[in-house]
Amino acid sequence: MLWPVHTAKHPNLTWCATGGVGAVLVIALCPSLGRAADPTPAAPTQAVAPAFAAEVELAPDLHLLRLGAGAYIVRHTCPFLCNSVLVEMPDVTFVFGGTPGFPEAAQRVLDWIVREHGTRPVVAINTGYHFDNLGGNAAFLAAGFPVYGSDLTVRLLAERGERMRALTLGFIADPNSPYRAAHAALQFVPPDHIFPLEQGLTLRFGGEEVRVIYPGPTQAPDKVAVYFPGRRLLYGSCLLLAGDRAGNLAEADLAHWPEGVRTLMPLAIDVAVAAHGPRLDPGLLQNTLDVLARHQAAAVPSVSR
Ligand SMILES: [Zn+2]
Repeated sequence: MLWPVHTAKHPNLTWCATGGVGAVLVIALCPSLGRAADPTPAAPTQAVAPAFAAEVELAPDLHLLRLGAGAYIVRHTCPFLCNSVLVEMPDVTFVFGGTPGFPEAAQRVLDWIVREHGTRPVVAINTGYHFDNLGGNAAFLAAGFPVYGSDLTVRLLAERGERMRALTLGFIADPNSPYRAAHAALQFVPPDHIFPLEQGLTLRFGGEEVRVIYPGPTQAPDKVAVYFPGRRLLYGSCLLLAGDRAGNLAEADLAHWPEGVRTLMPLAIDVAVAAHGPRLDPGLLQNTLDVLARHQAAAVPSVSR
């Protein structure tokens, strides 16, 4: 798949890609961003496994993958692969869409911002009540940064937080995994800037808009997507499926999830990011519909007697 390069239309962010139909996507920094692109990116070996020209390791399980000018994926493996996004706004604020899974990981990213850019305002947006949508909150709030989240996320965290923790621990087979201990100890900290879920939220930073979109109940009742229209970047969090399986459906609304994804399809999107998985193309939305359709088709029909 070949991505267009939007240098003229979107000066804040330049997406560069190489590849062809059916080929693996390779993302490289454009020379126009101030650093030379890697002229010989490593030959990819797996389908849909993007290779980033700029990858910053903050810890063995925490990486920043640079998408373009001022836009990053924060990839936290805890032990599940969990993506959030970090975007530098024109007014120098850094905006997190989602958070890393643990406050320690969020703190490492905050430390990196200070190291690389100096003291900056930071805003975090929670995309649901699950740990991979808000687990970093304690670090943001301790630093005095606002954390936005919906009223339903606050309520579900209070009502179902411990159930979610038990479910998460159940997914970690190794009893000695340090991630087991980390999940067991994770403090559930709600957002401090609450918006009504049904209304969503629009934030502006130096003229650039960030839209928090609620497309109805999907993978969980309170999942939201974070859209950066000026960059044609959609962070779909857990409501986009990057792989070929549906994953955690414990709270999924399978009847409404597809129509929720369809409401996002008219958005102008060059890059879509799911919470789990490496795939980054806008085809993630259709992939989500396809995976859900296959799941529904394979499900044993429930017969009422
Ligand atoms: Zn998730």
